Amino acid sequence: MKVYSTKQRKSLSDYLLSHRDEEMTAAEIAAALRGEGISLSAVYRNLASLEEEGLVQRITRAGDRKIFFRFSGAEECREHIHLRCRKCGKTFHMDAGTTDLLDETVAENCGFKMDRAETVINGVCGDCEKAEQTSKK
Ligand SMILES: [Zn+2]
Ligand SMILES: [Zn+2]
Repeated sequence: MKVYSTKQRKSLSDYLLSHRDEEMTAAEIAAALRGEGISLSAVYRNLASLEEEGLVQRITRAGDRKIFFRFSGAEECREHIHLRCRKCGKTFHMDAGTTDLLDETVAENCGFKMDRAETVINGVCGDCEKAEQTSKK
């Protein structure tokens, strides 16, 4: 039994890792993993334990009652800030230089030490901004 649940967890975290720029609902994840014999309740159970370990983030969107999940446990993702587009829901990884700059500026001007791994800046990505501009013309 133990081995089996470890295998489910592995499949789930592999799947989340390979889709780590996306936000997905538990139902979407379960649908993608159906071929591997992982039930929706197993997905929920494993997501909850990954979330407890800080490897998965739970995300809610304004005006949407669904709960989305995103893998946040990638090693390199602990060292930078994430930018999240509220239009398309995509997550972007801030480069190290910009993260350092922001970190230093905030520390210097606000006397505040940011928690990089936990910080998400919400806004609109370049593509969505462009799409908006074009549709306005
Ligand atoms: Zn990242
Ligand atoms: Zn976008």
